Amino acid sequence: MSDNPYLAHLNQGGNQEKNAFNGLIPRKTTAKQAEKLENAEANPFTNKPFSAKYQKILEGRRKLPVHAQRQEFLDMVHKNQFVVLVGETGSGKTTQIPQFLAYDELPHLKGKMIACTQPRRVAAMSVAQRVADEMDVKLGQEVGYSIRFEDNTSPSTFLKYMTDGMLLREAMTDPLMSRYSAVILDEAHERTLNTDILMGLLKEVCKKRKDLQVIVMSATLDAGKFQKYFDNAPLLSVPGRTFPVEIFYTPEPERDYLEAAIRTCLQIHVSEPEGDILVFLTGEEEIETACSKIRAEGDELIRSQGAGPLKVVPLYSSLPPRAQQQIFEAAPPRRTPDGAPGRKIVVSTNIAETSLTIDGIVYVIDPGFAKQKVYNPRIRVESLLVSPISKASAQQRAGRAGRTRPGKAFRLYTETAFNQELIEATYPEILRSNLGSVVLQLKKLGIDDLVHFDFMDPPAPETLMRALELLNYLGGLDDDGELTPTGELMSAFPLDPQLSKMLIESPKYNCSNEILSIAALLSVPQIFTRPNNARKAADEAKAQFAHADGDHLTLLNAYHAYKTNNEDQNWCYDNFLNHRSLKSADNVRNQLRRTMEKYDLDLVSTDFEHRSYYTNIRKAIVAGYFMQVAHLERSGHYLTVKDNQIVQLHPSSCLDHKPEWVLYNEFVLTTRNYIRTCIEVRAEWLLEVAPSYYDLSNFPNCHGKRQLEQIKNKKARNDDEKKSSSKKRRH
Ligand code: ADP
Ligand code: MG
Repeated sequence: MSDNPYLAHLNQGGNQEKNAFNGLIPRKTTAKQAEKLENAEANPFTNKPFSAKYQKILEGRRKLPVHAQRQEFLDMVHKNQFVVLVGETGSGKTTQIPQFLAYDELPHLKGKMIACTQPRRVAAMSVAQRVADEMDVKLGQEVGYSIRFEDNTSPSTFLKYMTDGMLLREAMTDPLMSRYSAVILDEAHERTLNTDILMGLLKEVCKKRKDLQVIVMSATLDAGKFQKYFDNAPLLSVPGRTFPVEIFYTPEPERDYLEAAIRTCLQIHVSEPEGDILVFLTGEEEIETACSKIRAEGDELIRSQGAGPLKVVPLYSSLPPRAQQQIFEAAPPRRTPDGAPGRKIVVSTNIAETSLTIDGIVYVIDPGFAKQKVYNPRIRVESLLVSPISKASAQQRAGRAGRTRPGKAFRLYTETAFNQELIEATYPEILRSNLGSVVLQLKKLGIDDLVHFDFMDPPAPETLMRALELLNYLGGLDDDGELTPTGELMSAFPLDPQLSKMLIESPKYNCSNEILSIAALLSVPQIFTRPNNARKAADEAKAQFAHADGDHLTLLNAYHAYKTNNEDQNWCYDNFLNHRSLKSADNVRNQLRRTMEKYDLDLVSTDFEHRSYYTNIRKAIVAGYFMQVAHLERSGHYLTVKDNQIVQLHPSSCLDHKPEWVLYNEFVLTTRNYIRTCIEVRAEWLLEVAPSYYDLSNFPNCHGKRQLEQIKNKKARNDDEKKSSSKKRRH
């Protein structure tokens, strides 16, 4: 028997099947041997003949920059547990490196898998599809993906693309990540909360599992920091095949970046030579608006100036996968042989900054903004805010223009602003987030000493304290910071702690079936659609489902109507409901229901005819969200309880009668402070459901507090009276 642990495993595994890999010693394959297998007649992983499509893609893959360094990469992983790899976007990191490892590790022979994490769901799904094509296998078989609420893998999967959040979740039940022989942390430069936690965790796991290989991949940013963090890991840097990009600034600041972006786009189209355009905007609504305006004005330019045809494609994460695939399609052909060339215009969030590579981009338009998460621990508000990007982001965006040939980047801000106002690099998410969920997960992982956890950038102590406080009020942690049985249960759900708490409490209020639906509806993209050209009709359609007590119940009504109408797509369309969101809510609901069943949480409903049907639901929501309540003050505005922030009901809310107490699901920071997805609640419920939070001693003075105090005192008096009268009776 060999002393090579991999070979030993192989022999024990008794995989006797004749296989193209027989005779190769795992972990010692050379690039040449692997390439030979890739060029063979049959797929070594499936023993099926390779398709013609495979051969064609293979040709292209061999031209990618990482290909030239395959041997160097293998040498490095054979000698080191951690390897840091940096390379230009598009050089082949995400698609090729996991395959290099697969041909080397042969995880399928050891019953192990290779994980490749992605910060974004979209990237995980689309890259998995691409790599399944490249390996000539069916997606979900040998190559699969796993994202929250969607597991597209099978027992034969050995290469798994997954969101960083999913791997973290798996670690909670498998702390040594024993299912994996290698973990690739991709897009590490994005420094998402989950990737940061995974990095710390993997450092721990690797001390105990010397057989686990970890590759950290990143765009060409900050490699040194990663190397140092991973015990001076070696660096493989893949030189990109990049062309120079000329940068243009606006002479004056732009007042309206959206308008400016559209104008610049059309200008490029009529005045610049052939080549596709990539425009960076901040979110779905803005992107859809820009797309329709560019399309309309583009048509006008064709008519008036004989401009070339346009293909305008949006790209954002909630877009259905099929629509996303359009970004890879070619620009439209000329309308006549001597007509102007066609052009593809991709209007995208910063998802196209590094996560997805679009070939053929020559022009980039960068207004300098992105939607970014911000967290203010003092008022406990986490929100997505349109904010200026960093210099590093701006450089990355510009780089997208130089992939095929020399390109141009149009920055819609001044050079002075770039030099003086933009920060060097985006702050890691861990410094900008509410850590409630993460702290719960870490506690579940057995990491008790959060202060000494090896974070690459430790979060602010105040943020950690807020998280501990939140979990303590929710009953997930006891006063010593230990996980309680409720906390254990909460961590079993892939949800924010408030949502899990609401679910766990719902059987007590006899409405877990309904709360399950609400939790699912709150976990998917907006189900109500409101197209710009049909706002009135959309609002009327939504009014059919409106419930006077608030938005959670409105969501529930719409969901019930969807089920009553047999989940019909046309019915959804006619009623301005997003069919995809509802379908995915249904799927989420099923998965959450399974978790409820697994932990013996009863699935119950109050009789619909009974008058407490909706009250029970609202009380259960209070059980999770009692910390997110606002009171209507005498002055006529809402003040959040305890943090005393002035807020307004979001215009989308169906609560039109300004109730005295409202509970909100989300605090939205824009030009104003909005609270979104609200229901009316009663002060008595707050005191009843969360007495320790509402002890009022440390609440700032406001009308809401006095109101709560009065109710509390009255109740105390009543209780006293009851007590003394029962005493009298006994005497
Ligand atoms: P990196 O991770 O280094 O940014 P990728 O591995 O994602 O690079 O992509 C390498 C190349 O593979 C891209 O430049 C593109 O040519 C091709 N590619 C990736 N995904 C797709 C896809 N879905 N369709 C067509 N080509 C793709
Ligand atoms: Mg990549």
